[in-house]
Amino acid sequence: MALPPGQHYEIAMISGRCHCGKTTFRINAELPDRVTFCDCSICHKRGTLRAYYSPEQFSVCAEEDRVYRFRAGVVASHFCGVCGCATYCGSPRFLPDGTLDQGTRIIAVNARLFDDFVAHEAPVTLVAGKDRG
Ligand SMILES: [Zn+2]
Repeated sequence: MALPPGQHYEIAMISGRCHCGKTTFRINAELPDRVTFCDCSICHKRGTLRAYYSPEQFSVCAEEDRVYRFRAGVVASHFCGVCGCATYCGSPRFLPDGTLDQGTRIIAVNARLFDDFVAHEAPVTLVAGKDRG
């Protein structure tokens, strides 16, 4: 919905960038109260701390985007092709039993890249992804 000229919504907005700045993003949300560490095969190795958003909340400008797909291609793990920072993952939503809800997409953003946020000082929720691959 358009607002009259000079007016704007008061929207809390997260911004972030990779190390070299070739990837920048904005998230239409407030900074998270908690972050998530997943112990699946890739998160365990990358060490990312994640926060989860809907695709509608997330907008990204990635000049050197690279994608590593795993779990038979359903999880797209994006990273910067210049500096190598893990930026975000797009996938169907994981259900508690480890299956995928193909109707709902979720964006898991690397909260270590958020501006004005120290991810490793936030409370961490462990997600048991180890058994899922
Ligand atoms: Zn980069």
